[in-house]
Amino acid sequence: MSAILNADLHCHSVVSDGTLTPEELAARAKANGVDLWALTDHDELGGQHRAAEAARAVGLRYLTGTEISVTFADETVHIVGLGFDPDDAAMTQGLYDTRGGRGKRAQEMAAQLAQVGIHGAYEGALRFVGNPELISRTHFARFLVEQGHCRDTSEVFRKYLTEGKPGYVPHRWATLRDAVRWISGAGGLAVIAHPGRYKFTANEEYALFTEFQAHGGRAVEVVTGSHTPAEYVEYADKAREFGLAASRGSDFHSPDESHCDLGALPPLPAGLTPVWELLADRIR
Ligand code: AMP
Ligand code: MN
Ligand code: MN
Ligand code: MN
Repeated sequence: MSAILNADLHCHSVVSDGTLTPEELAARAKANGVDLWALTDHDELGGQHRAAEAARAVGLRYLTGTEISVTFADETVHIVGLGFDPDDAAMTQGLYDTRGGRGKRAQEMAAQLAQVGIHGAYEGALRFVGNPELISRTHFARFLVEQGHCRDTSEVFRKYLTEGKPGYVPHRWATLRDAVRWISGAGGLAVIAHPGRYKFTANEEYALFTEFQAHGGRAVEVVTGSHTPAEYVEYADKAREFGLAASRGSDFHSPDESHCDLGALPPLPAGLTPVWELLADRIR
């Protein structure tokens, strides 16, 4: 398999905070020329069998996927898992526990928003939720846009729901060690998602890469909808420095919100090992 394969190994459905069903995503990926696809819902495997079936129906190659929320150095880091057994018991339980605090967190977010005059945010956000176990900031963002508080979800994350802004509730997610071990234990491969998005110092980022690798992590997202072209180069260098494979994914959530569509990314820079070369025997 070549490095110029149109692989899109990061996106979200209604099972987490996307707005399309797994079937709609499969059709869109196919229409956009994707060759190899993975659905990576946040902390959830509930869409995996549907996605694999939909991929087969439209003639797309498929890898199982998820994006696990992790707390590392007091920041939220996302770890993508690819090519694991979607019915693995330890991983299923670990993700169930990781999702567990979201309901209470959402109530606290709504209480904070009420203090700045935005009432009914919990019920309002719930109207956008496809999976009651997975109420996320994205659903609050859609409510705030609907109510006219912001023009779009990007503006929401500048004015609300982030550190120092109304509606931000710090949360403790899974540990880096557990996330990587759940993925590896289920026969999959762990990937650091969109490293350019974290507000780490150089030392903290070095610690993330080093510890990730020490726990058995094997790859890093280089080309993602969350990176600038300069960050493609920066993280291609990091991948080479650490001997990590490279992944590629749009992080598509919604036709109305995402600036990067499924499959609409440049190829991986030369001289990297594409993560799908390490997962050839897991592709369905
Ligand atoms: P949560 O897991 O509830 O903390 O929500 C995180 C989700 O919010 C991410 O997966 C993104 O979909 C969305 N998000 C976070 N920051 C931004 C941002 N700056 N712009 C748009 N969406 C964001
Ligand atoms: Mn998301
Ligand atoms: Mn993410
Ligand atoms: Mn994502």
